[in-house]
Amino acid sequence: MTKPLHPETLAAQGPGRVSEPYKDIVPPIHASTTYERGAAGDYPGGRVYSRADNPSYDTAEALLAQLENAHAALLFASGQAAAATVFQALAPGDVALVPRNMYWAFRNWLLRAAAPWGLKVEFYENAAIDDLASKARALKPRLIWIETPANPTWDITDIAAAATIAREVGAVLAVDSTVATPLLTRPLELGAHLVMHSATKYLNGHSDVIAGALATAADDELWQRIKYLRSGSGAVLGPFEAWLLLRGMRTLHLRVAAACANALAIARRFEGHARLSHVLYPGLASHPQHAVAARQMHGGFGGMLSLRVKDGEEASKAFTARLKVFKRATSLGSVESLAEHRASVEGPGTLCPADLVRLSVGVEHLDDLLADIEQALG
Ligand SMILES: *Cc1c(COP(=O)(O)O)cnc(C)c1O
Repeated sequence: MTKPLHPETLAAQGPGRVSEPYKDIVPPIHASTTYERGAAGDYPGGRVYSRADNPSYDTAEALLAQLENAHAALLFASGQAAAATVFQALAPGDVALVPRNMYWAFRNWLLRAAAPWGLKVEFYENAAIDDLASKARALKPRLIWIETPANPTWDITDIAAAATIAREVGAVLAVDSTVATPLLTRPLELGAHLVMHSATKYLNGHSDVIAGALATAADDELWQRIKYLRSGSGAVLGPFEAWLLLRGMRTLHLRVAAACANALAIARRFEGHARLSHVLYPGLASHPQHAVAARQMHGGFGGMLSLRVKDGEEASKAFTARLKVFKRATSLGSVESLAEHRASVEGPGTLCPADLVRLSVGVEHLDDLLADIEQALG
């Protein structure tokens, strides 16, 4: 028996498929939207039309499935499309139990599109497993959704404990694992059924592709419905984007390791700083769910952290305005460091504290990042 390859090797080789007839090391881009039928009306190439699938997806989907230890993976046109498809696979009247703190645009979609369509969207406290348990027992959800670490305060939800609850009440457990990446956490190994990624973020890692992905533990009825919905609703990725995504994924392990190391060092340096009331980062011993994070995250605590500035909203905006190396922009998970005053991006109704600045830590030299924050805090 040969030993299974490490995730780093799988990612770097991406996953090492050499194609015919030129023996390309890098897979080609398949631009064709349609495929020739055989004389007998069959499809000798195994493909019909590229809204159903495209050979350019194959390698990135296979790599993600390997990294997540999944049965299969599917690419989507965006993270939002991937997440929305999971909820669209449910039926009107079904209950979906989702966290109070979660990616804002998706929370909006649940309230503005999924709820009017007939899903009953109910919220639990991200880190309170007893709250999740009592709501799950009372509401009998079809779906329990987790985001961990969760935007923008990086609350950690115990995936294994949630999986036990989901099994008890007969719910599907799905995890938005965008921030953890498949290198730090593998939710399916902890008992989840589906994993979702905004591949726009760490998987691609270069702020130049919008993409999403789902991976499943089993090829069941739900997965078949999700597959149908991708093609039926048409939320498909372009072949060029799929190719760029795969190129990004080949250095995922290097980028994630560098971002984790920088983020931890920044969190440690600025915890207790006179101008800050909180440094929110799951890798700090002071984080309320640090023990759970240490159990379910391996090799690092991610590249995302938030700073709460003592003197409130105006002071936190002024701090962001003084940053020079960190660029003021939304999004996360790329090689360049980004900072944003999160509440003003989320807008009216936001649950985000007004004094919070969200940092997506990139792979620059640590000293430049530390000096930038230091000068901006003044
Ligand atoms: C960005 C993001 C999404 C949405 O993904 P898009 O690719 O922007 O559509 C969902 N969840 C999390 C945690 C994200 O960071």
